[in-house]
Amino acid sequence: AKQMGRNNYQFYTNTLNKEKTLLFELENSLYNSLENKELFLTYQPQLNLKTNTLEGVEVLLRWQHPVLGVVSPSKFIPLAEETGLIISIGEWVLEMACEEGTRWLDLGYPPIMIAVNVSGKQFQQDNFADKVKEILIKTQFNPEYLEIEITESILMQDSEKTETIIKELSGLGVKFSLDDFGTGYSSLSYLKKFPFNFIKIDKSFVTDLVTNFQDQALVSAIITLAKGYNMKVVAEGVEVETQKKILKNFRCDLIQGWLVSEPLIREDFMDFMASYQQK
Ligand code: C2E
Ligand code: CA
Ligand code: CA
Ligand code: CA
Repeated sequence: AKQMGRNNYQFYTNTLNKEKTLLFELENSLYNSLENKELFLTYQPQLNLKTNTLEGVEVLLRWQHPVLGVVSPSKFIPLAEETGLIISIGEWVLEMACEEGTRWLDLGYPPIMIAVNVSGKQFQQDNFADKVKEILIKTQFNPEYLEIEITESILMQDSEKTETIIKELSGLGVKFSLDDFGTGYSSLSYLKKFPFNFIKIDKSFVTDLVTNFQDQALVSAIITLAKGYNMKVVAEGVEVETQKKILKNFRCDLIQGWLVSEPLIREDFMDFMASYQQK
């Protein structure tokens, strides 16, 4: 079960036609995925580099397709965006994550940040902030521990609306995280304009960190920049000890990646939390 995160279904790429048919079938079955309870959440720990403690978790969606097996979100999230299904799927993810967070606290686990990915379409719907509030009330989850991950593309779309949503939810204690930092149409003005609590350095800058001095310079600069704005930095895709060492030297706050753990199903993540408490 621990392998779930990595064993993703790969598309056949033989012919374009085949792929088109497949996409069509995928779209059809995606419509029923929620009802058929084929979607499930996985949890990837985020480690504090200074204290070596578990500080947060990113919730990553999976689709257990009856025929295709586990389908990667990078395959079906774009499809869900196109069809508008992302709104109901995204709400389901948010509610399940908060429900799970409350359950962990009830079971006596120490509180950790729970980070949930929110897509553009979901974020830009008219009543997104109200939906989040509803879910927080329904699940009794403490807003201080909810972290919403959004990407730069959202900030470009309707920045006034985005600002309003971030400010409204921040007022309740909800945290915001700027995902995939550096990969999109990054504008440094976003850091000034939007009160993010976290910046996530994309794994493309972490992959060659050990050998690529330019990447080192970039990562180090992002960390310095973020600190200037009082934002915490999370490095994604940390796979080896040497990457961790460099990130620690750069005073990166948190790491996430296979070095710590792959995304885990809930039972395995609870085991992970329990083993971390004993350390
Ligand atoms: P992301 O938010 O950038 O998530 C990080 C991705 O990196 C995840 O892929 C994770 O499994 C993978 N990863 C983690 N550690 C490592 C590592 O050490 N090495 C490598 N090579 N990869 C690592 P995943 O789970 O396949 O998710 C892909 C994308 O799908 C996510 O990218 C996110 O944009 C999107 N996604 C996932 N869950 C949701 C969701 O609930 N809602 C929305 N809207 N998007 C989601
Ligand atoms: Ca993310
Ligand atoms: Ca990311
Ligand atoms: Ca990404």
